Amino acid sequence: MEIAMVCTRVSLLILILSLCSPYKFIQSPMDFGPLNLLPTTTTASSDFGRILFQSPSAVLKPQSSRDISLLLGFLSGSSLSKVTVAARGAGHSIHGQAQALDGIVVEMCSLPSEIEFYKGGEGEISYADVSGGVMWIELLEQSLKLGLAPRSWTDYLYLTVGGTLSNAGISGQTFKHGPQISNVLQLEVVTGRGEIVACSPSKDADLFNAVLGGLGQFGIITRARILLQEAPQKVKWVRAFYDDFGTFTKDQELLVSMPDLVDYVEGFIVLNEQSLHSSSVAFPANVDFSPDFGTKSSPKIYYCIEFAVHDYQHKNTNVEQVVEVISRQMSHMVSQLYSVEVSYFDFLNRVRMEEMSLRSLGMWEVHHPWLNMFVPKAGISSFRDLLMDNISPDNFDGLILIYPLLRDKWDTNTSVVLPNSGSMDRVMYVVGILRSANPDDGCSHHCLQELLRRHRHIADTAGARIGAKQYLAHHPTPSGWHQHFGRRWERFAERKTRFDPLLILGPGQGIFPRSNNAAYGS
Ligand code: FAD
Repeated sequence: MEIAMVCTRVSLLILILSLCSPYKFIQSPMDFGPLNLLPTTTTASSDFGRILFQSPSAVLKPQSSRDISLLLGFLSGSSLSKVTVAARGAGHSIHGQAQALDGIVVEMCSLPSEIEFYKGGEGEISYADVSGGVMWIELLEQSLKLGLAPRSWTDYLYLTVGGTLSNAGISGQTFKHGPQISNVLQLEVVTGRGEIVACSPSKDADLFNAVLGGLGQFGIITRARILLQEAPQKVKWVRAFYDDFGTFTKDQELLVSMPDLVDYVEGFIVLNEQSLHSSSVAFPANVDFSPDFGTKSSPKIYYCIEFAVHDYQHKNTNVEQVVEVISRQMSHMVSQLYSVEVSYFDFLNRVRMEEMSLRSLGMWEVHHPWLNMFVPKAGISSFRDLLMDNISPDNFDGLILIYPLLRDKWDTNTSVVLPNSGSMDRVMYVVGILRSANPDDGCSHHCLQELLRRHRHIADTAGARIGAKQYLAHHPTPSGWHQHFGRRWERFAERKTRFDPLLILGPGQGIFPRSNNAAYGS
């Protein structure tokens, strides 16, 4: 054991010298004692965005939390080292957030995929203990076997638990149960100092709160305890169309005010024929909606609310009646309400079907200049206008999601950044501009740069005028990050000093660029 430790330390020293040397000599798999450190792969230097490609010098495929602890402990004990480390979940970031230029990428999916359940009795909670590299789809598949499921989701399930908890994890259930970071009971984290810490709201709470929404800056989540609820067998899935933005948002706010009846609320802008069809791949109802989209110079756009009601078939509720009670209060276009019943699994996994359809058309592995923003309720109409001034409905390829969230379902002790609550509005919106840019369809370098420039303009203008904040944020400069955090910057920076003083973790976010020998705050 002792000998193995000494070997590991000597090997790590060789590794660091090699990474810091101008002559990188990691070209073939190397034996770093018990650590599975390998030369870099193309996967480690790319992500879903396909915008940035930063190559690390090595990849760690950890077999346990201890492997990660050994690496970080060694790096943090060696102030000469300039090596940075990024955890990589499923790599579904847009702007290189899980990349580490000339550093080490820790591939979280290599951790043994452990999922253990605790099923509580009547009146007790149920939860799952899962490793940080497990994907939500795996957790869903396993938990359904026990009739259980997490309460809060993302739209797409091929993302890792550690990756979404480092951001927030939102979807149509967030209004009711809060984001995924509000549904975690406990974490195991390897800090930037290499310490393995089990933390929760009552033990090492500051690390627990720092890591949730912490953008991978304070530690690597190796295990999480996720709250579960009884899973419904089926879901009644409803879509209703609107031709007026004010009526659309009013009805969305009505729906989120009825959490006893409604289990999921989202919505999207119907910009053109393509957006109507592509968003309907997974929705198996026969939708008879063929609106007039106007002309190029005078476009007409529509909106769709999507809501869902869980069907626990053994319980004494009639979902048809529930949908009837809800929809009677809504003001959608006449006859433009469609509903269908699907299995709970198919409902949650709906984006996979869209993925498969896009893959078959060669449109999945393209550039994704996505922009997501949290918008205060008071500014949502201005945001819509700003958005429409900066996109052309006739050539927009992708989806624009808009749906309301409720502030009091978010814990402000975590690291997540929300718009300032200047007014007393409980509601805020998330807007996701989920755009594809296909080089084979004429959108190569210049076109992509122009889309990114427009998105930056939207983000900057909405930030300055209406106090909107980016979700899954990307800021090209540290000062952009200071502005992003606003009055929360000091707490975020202080947490960095405490948990990752040598600025080893999360270089791809660009929040704490590393200068020679500098420990943050020194
Ligand atoms: P990665 O991209 O690998 O990593 C993201 C960040 O987290 C990086 O900074 C990385 O270093 C850090 N990180 C990764 N693992 C860990 C860990 N174990 N410990 C500490 N830090 C870690 N998001 C939503 O909230 N709601 C949605 O509905 C939603 N839908 C999406 C649909 C698609 C098709 C895609 C591509 C993305 C979607 N996202 C959504 C965004 C997604 O949640 C984020 O991109 C998330 O980061 C992806 O998780 P990942 O496992 O791919 O993380």
